[in-house]
Amino acid sequence: MTKADKTSNVGNSLPAPRAADALPFLFDDLDGFQARIAGRQIALFLDFDGTLTAIAERPELAKMSEEMRTAVRRAAARFQVSIISGRDRPDVEALVDLDNLIYAGSHGFDISHPHDHGQGAPYRETIQNIGEELYGALSSIDGVVIERKKLSVAVHYRLVAEKNVGKVNAVVEEITKKYPDIGLIAGKKVFEILPPVDWDKGKAVLWLLDRFGDNGDEVLPIYIGDDVTDEAAFKALSGKGIGIFVCGDDGRRETRADLKVRDVAEVGRLLALLAED
Ligand SMILES: [Mg+2]
Repeated sequence: MTKADKTSNVGNSLPAPRAADALPFLFDDLDGFQARIAGRQIALFLDFDGTLTAIAERPELAKMSEEMRTAVRRAAARFQVSIISGRDRPDVEALVDLDNLIYAGSHGFDISHPHDHGQGAPYRETIQNIGEELYGALSSIDGVVIERKKLSVAVHYRLVAEKNVGKVNAVVEEITKKYPDIGLIAGKKVFEILPPVDWDKGKAVLWLLDRFGDNGDEVLPIYIGDDVTDEAAFKALSGKGIGIFVCGDDGRRETRADLKVRDVAEVGRLLALLAED
């Protein structure tokens, strides 16, 4: 067991992940959900792509609707809202474009908080070098989109022809192999290269909760996300908060979320509901 597993494990027996198909839909038992949050001070954590916007063909085409922006703004007027994204922090800040939120970019490695946790910072140059190498090796393959971020690199292959996906795979593997312990995770049609540090979206959420002065009971953390990387946050909040999986048609995935919503529209509906509660 890694240190990561131990520190994010609340209590001794963490419930096993279950198939998303077996997860209840939040809106099927809205009364039950409202009873769970009644009288609690919420700390809301939101993923961006696939949660606040539909996933775009290319990351630069993602756009949040005005309705969603209004819903997030209203929620943030009532309680602390944090955006936890794989994107570069300035990028997700510009896309959400609201002032009174906390933004965590590069999967929580880069947080807009006066007390920077400093995780990953010593690897900034290494990450940049890997980004350049990947760019050099992959830019000739049609459809590859490489995001070089402050503390992570993303290689998107959503637009790559099926016959070339294996090649992308092989190049990513070959290059990252040269850097011992570097983090490599596979998301939805994307590879993410991360600093070799025991840190993820779940750690970032727990770190922020600490900064909010959470002593266990007062604050109710709610995390909404759709991607594999959000599982770290669902796990971190297991038994402590409420994880909500934006499932789309991803019913067979294993998840540690508590509840699910169907899509981005239902996330908007949920935010509106939380804001008026
Ligand atoms: Mg997402």
